[in-house]
Amino acid sequence: IQVSRMLSSLVKTLGFVDGKWTNSCDGKKFDVINPANMNVIAQVPDMNKEDCQRAIDAANDAFYSKEWHNSTAKERSNLLKKWFNLLEQHKQEIAEIMTAESGKPIGESLGEVGYGNSFIEWFAEEARRIYGEIVPSPVASRQIMMTRHPIGVAGLITPWNFPHAMITRKAGAALAAGCTVVLKPAEDTPLTALAICKLAEEAGFPPGVINCITSSRIHAAEIGELLCKSPKVAGISFTGSTQVGKLLYRQCSEGIKRIGLELGGNAPFIVFKSANIDHAVQGAMTSKFRNCGQTCVSANRFLIQEEVFDEFTGKLTEQIKALKIGDGSNADVKIGPLINEAQLHKVQAMVSDATCNGAKIIHGGRHLSDIGPLFFEPTIVTDIKTNMNLYNDEVFGPVVSLIKFKTEDEALKIANSTQRGLAGYFFSQDISQIFRINKDLEVGMIGINEGLISTTEAAFGGIKESGLGREGSKHGIDDYVYIKYLCYGNL
Ligand code: ADP
Repeated sequence: IQVSRMLSSLVKTLGFVDGKWTNSCDGKKFDVINPANMNVIAQVPDMNKEDCQRAIDAANDAFYSKEWHNSTAKERSNLLKKWFNLLEQHKQEIAEIMTAESGKPIGESLGEVGYGNSFIEWFAEEARRIYGEIVPSPVASRQIMMTRHPIGVAGLITPWNFPHAMITRKAGAALAAGCTVVLKPAEDTPLTALAICKLAEEAGFPPGVINCITSSRIHAAEIGELLCKSPKVAGISFTGSTQVGKLLYRQCSEGIKRIGLELGGNAPFIVFKSANIDHAVQGAMTSKFRNCGQTCVSANRFLIQEEVFDEFTGKLTEQIKALKIGDGSNADVKIGPLINEAQLHKVQAMVSDATCNGAKIIHGGRHLSDIGPLFFEPTIVTDIKTNMNLYNDEVFGPVVSLIKFKTEDEALKIANSTQRGLAGYFFSQDISQIFRINKDLEVGMIGINEGLISTTEAAFGGIKESGLGREGSKHGIDDYVYIKYLCYGNL
């Protein structure tokens, strides 16, 4: 990131509570690091439980304030539109901040800002369609009506892999519904979150409607627990690891709190013998290598029918060899660093677990420490077995795990043999097979002859241990409203 950009008014280094830019109550800060070179690019407040309580109080007061509580859907829609326009005007700046703190290649960061902004536009439109219902009554003297209302304060906890879009996908829906929010962004990527909040402030949201608590990992658990247990918070929306998601779900159970969860996946990517192999290879590249493989919908297990295994593997290897690796601020770089050391060690450990148990590396497999401490070579591993971590866990890195199969039943069995069920992909030109697989693949989203499927208009979410609820689409509002039934009697 250029120094001029870092001096940009969008780089905020304070938290945002009750409409004011603020330090942590104890004055502590933590470093924000550029994973491409480990340079410290900023320091932001290491906020704790007490700061979070202030934010919850502010959000609660704002929720009941006349200005927000009595706001019309059209007024909220207009505010969201203003915010969207500002986000669009500052696309490049936000993308550069994102690349600097997450390592994401700049082209992808720009793509994410466009995607993230689209949720604000979408929910500006949806705000005006949060309709109620009038239904025929079984009793002549009665009328039955159902109306939808905001749940109250929403706690939003977001990850570093999509530092912008995971915030707007939640906040856009919450604000459209009339909720207020307390956001806790990931410790690796607070600057993108603060930039988004800065533009929300400019758009004119009343104080306390949007609050942002930056914290290091040290305080994440206490902030999370407070958000889950505070009686002033009506619901939680979380995107992140399955492990933390389960903890938050447990914590929310005490107060029977609403919770939306977008957790890890273990996406199968199946190539049947009838597939167009060039499309499949292209789909594999986008699905696997976007954000260096660090997305929850990344293909994790590649199941290739034996008749096309060699052709697919050969063509994929050629494409992988051509990927340019480096600092994501260079426009031609396609593979940036992993986000942090923990992630690098996890990827290395999973690859060595596989090779120790008989898997073979076809390409890659090295830690590229001459480029920077967090770079890992795009890798293809074959002879994957069911006892390997690469088969069972999300690798969240640039590693393709290849499994050869013979029959459709076998492929489905392997694909479904996981407790995760977020995304799945398959490539086939056989129309009956396409319908069969759609019905039986146990996931919440399917790419059919397509490797990149996320879009504002469609419902994002998983089944099994991959989550609860849907984000984006018209269903994205549901987590933030409750239905009130009104029975008019003795008419
Ligand atoms: P990752 O392993 O990819 O960092 P996490 O699920 O650990 O995924 O992190 C996602 C978000 O959850 C981050 O904002 C992180 O700070 C937050 N987080 C981590 N631990 C907890 C916790 N115990 N309670 C609440 N939030 C947490």
